[in-house]
Amino acid sequence: MVARLDLTQDPALLDALLVARRGTAFFGRKLNELPDDSLSGQSLLAGWSRAHVIAHVGYNARALARLVEWAITGVETPMYSSPEARNEEIALGATLSPIALRNLYEHSAIQLNVEWRDTPEKAWSHEVKTAQGRTVPASETVWMRTREVWLHAVDLNNGAGVAEIPAVVLERLLRDITGTWQTRGDDRDLVLRVSGGDSLPDLGDTTAADPEVVAGTLADITAWACGRSSRGVRSNRQELSRAPRWI
Ligand code: ZN
Repeated sequence: MVARLDLTQDPALLDALLVARRGTAFFGRKLNELPDDSLSGQSLLAGWSRAHVIAHVGYNARALARLVEWAITGVETPMYSSPEARNEEIALGATLSPIALRNLYEHSAIQLNVEWRDTPEKAWSHEVKTAQGRTVPASETVWMRTREVWLHAVDLNNGAGVAEIPAVVLERLLRDITGTWQTRGDDRDLVLRVSGGDSLPDLGDTTAADPEVVAGTLADITAWACGRSSRGVRSNRQELSRAPRWI
């Protein structure tokens, strides 16, 4: 994955592409360490094997590549034809042989990377639509992929921890999650306080009179907020609440 061939010269976008590519390499490394006979084993996502995670990450790259193509050509191509089609594709993909799953992951990652590399400067701001129906510039595909590869590398249940995800990714992820809660009104009386080196202003319902304050390091709080783990997280209530649903 040769970053210097990117058509874009935008330094912020090039930085973002680098973080996405590093995440892809990280996911690939955690996958390569897994022997074939462990791919049917349990991931950290309820009801999903590692094979489901790998198939999902592969098809996600293809879906994002469709959005980038849309931006380049102007011809509307959705991420998925329907939510059902997306789920069926993952379920079927999870039954692929280990070698086919590894190929799916590798080839789809390369395909997306080539699309990004060949995206002319102007097309990056072309509007496309996400699977959730949000209208975003094509450049948003870089963040969408970044989130997927870093977090699902942890979900592979192969020893990677949320603390290995770069702080810049965790911070944006946490803002995404708390922003979603706020939009839905799910963050009432809940404040998130990041302690340690990565200091952030409090997030959540910061004007509440007597909120539950959930505190921990950026990695621990983010792991809790995205429903992965509650390790290292403290609450000022007797019992730590479950994080509101995110996706
Ligand atoms: Zn995902």
